[in-house]
Amino acid sequence: MADPLIVLTDVWRTYDVGGKPLHALREVDETFAAGEHVAIMGPSGSGKSTLLNLLGCLDRPSRGTYRLDGRDVGELSEAELAEVRRHQIGFIFQSFHLVARLDARRNVELPMTFAGVERRERRRRAEEALDAVGMAPRSAHRPNELSGGERQRVAIARALAMGPRVLLADEPTGNLDTRSGRKVLDLLAELNAGGITLVVVTHDPNVARRADRVITLVDGRIVSRIAGTELGEVNPLIAAVEAAEEMAASEAAAEAAEAESPGETG
Ligand code: ADP
Ligand code: MG
Repeated sequence: MADPLIVLTDVWRTYDVGGKPLHALREVDETFAAGEHVAIMGPSGSGKSTLLNLLGCLDRPSRGTYRLDGRDVGELSEAELAEVRRHQIGFIFQSFHLVARLDARRNVELPMTFAGVERRERRRRAEEALDAVGMAPRSAHRPNELSGGERQRVAIARALAMGPRVLLADEPTGNLDTRSGRKVLDLLAELNAGGITLVVVTHDPNVARRADRVITLVDGRIVSRIAGTELGEVNPLIAAVEAAEEMAASEAAAEAAEAESPGETG
């Protein structure tokens, strides 16, 4: 395996809730290799978003260490953290978080505007990113003129605009119908195949099973680690659909063979 990109060692995240400690994450030890595709599952309130926010340097561990590409994130200043967020990490949210009054291209330009990228370069990169997600023809549309799936693709283009190494997605298909959700997942898989490290929070086994690995959190602890393919096997609905598809395929093959065999037809 390649060098680990992310190493979490005994990470805790504790909130103070009315004077009482609430451990949103406890004893988290986990390593993510560069280029991996990992899904994080778990019931509501189990710490998935907290973990994703830590990975995205939006937050810091209360205890333990987070090393990103060899650097201890806990020791970085606010300015250095902002720099890491800007250049290494792209975020995608369930509700897209696009600016309503800006068209798709200007939404994609936003992080580059904050990073001080010059206007013409900004525009060039935004158009490139929109093209990469198949949204170039809609670049002048505002969010309310786009479907949910299209909005999420614009949000992905925005996450890509600064050329991040890691893409963090919190329930990216949670607000989408099955078909546009699948298109978004295909796009994320394509980006991952291109080398980007992908971490997806989801409660949908159909999303998680596409990952190399699935981590499950309960009460802030990692309670299981399995391969995405294993998840496919243990999900009864998916197993039933696959079995039915296989049966139909073998029936079709048998019919075709029968039709071809001489003597039995005509
Ligand atoms: P998930 O994304 O799995 O639904 P979260 O990571 O959002 O869970 O939350 C984990 C736990 O931490 C929950 O009990 C939640 O109420 C608590 N929590 C999250 N953010 C805060 C906060 N800012 N202050 C206090 N408690 C929080
Ligand atoms: Mg959450």
